[in-house]
Amino acid sequence: MTRSTRTRFPRMIRGSVVVQRRRCGKQSCRCADGEQLHESTVLSYSAGGRNKTVMLAADEIEAVRTGVKRYRSAQAALETEGNAGLDALISARASARQAR
Ligand SMILES: [Zn+2]
Repeated sequence: MTRSTRTRFPRMIRGSVVVQRRRCGKQSCRCADGEQLHESTVLSYSAGGRNKTVMLAADEIEAVRTGVKRYRSAQAALETEGNAGLDALISARASARQAR
């Protein structure tokens, strides 16, 4: 069993799973011509106003994607509930004003 399959992944993860393509910097490497770049899948996130990344091993990608999806749907649900609360407050004020 590898280290990463033993890792318990968090239920929710903030960020995005993206594929980065880049040169490694070695003159003799296949990536030097800019055509065959190295690809790595990372979790991209912002912290303190800066973009940061965490490298993901192949067997970690799905679990991290799942955590990201859970975070996004929880965030969307929170937003929906907050907006419904705001609407309710505003319409209660409006009907109180009409009753006066
Ligand atoms: Zn290279």
